[in-house]
Amino acid sequence: MPAPGFIVKFPDSCLRRRTMTVDALTDAIRELCGKLGDAMLAANGAGLAAPQLGFSERIFVVDPVVAGQPEEHPPLVFINPEMVWLSTETETRDEGCLSFPDVFVPVKRALKARIRATNLNGEQFEMEAEGLCARAFQHELDHLNGKLLIDYVGPLRKQLIRRKLKRQAEGQADDEQTEKPGTDTEV
Ligand code: ZN
Repeated sequence: MPAPGFIVKFPDSCLRRRTMTVDALTDAIRELCGKLGDAMLAANGAGLAAPQLGFSERIFVVDPVVAGQPEEHPPLVFINPEMVWLSTETETRDEGCLSFPDVFVPVKRALKARIRATNLNGEQFEMEAEGLCARAFQHELDHLNGKLLIDYVGPLRKQLIRRKLKRQAEGQADDEQTEKPGTDTEV
């Protein structure tokens, strides 16, 4: 189990582990949702999924501003999320992930998405989103299914990303300019 609030980095096996449906909204689950929100905000991410903190519950959070809420709104919590609809219209944009620091790769996603989930009060709700928020829904749901950013790139790029993250983990300077700087979407 990683240290509290520490975001697990690729290739940690936590990121590929099978996730479990949440059966009951216990205090431990509420606490986990709080930890996810805090870690996401601290890391300035657009979203964060439970496996990124080393947990296996099917939960993710999304930044309130990304979800069209005011900044002071608490992070949006999605428990047992399911995608109910994706638009056929797609958009390809550079996408980042807090588990792949400073790596941005173009990912084609549905432009709009509608998700169903349970909130912290145990109520089921649906939410439709477009653009970055729809992308965050798709990215975070991928996390709960063990699918990662690196799965969207070809073999050469995969190798570069693995090498870059290995260097980061070893604390070496990153002299390899494989990615575009300045993109702000890490989820
Ligand atoms: Zn991610």
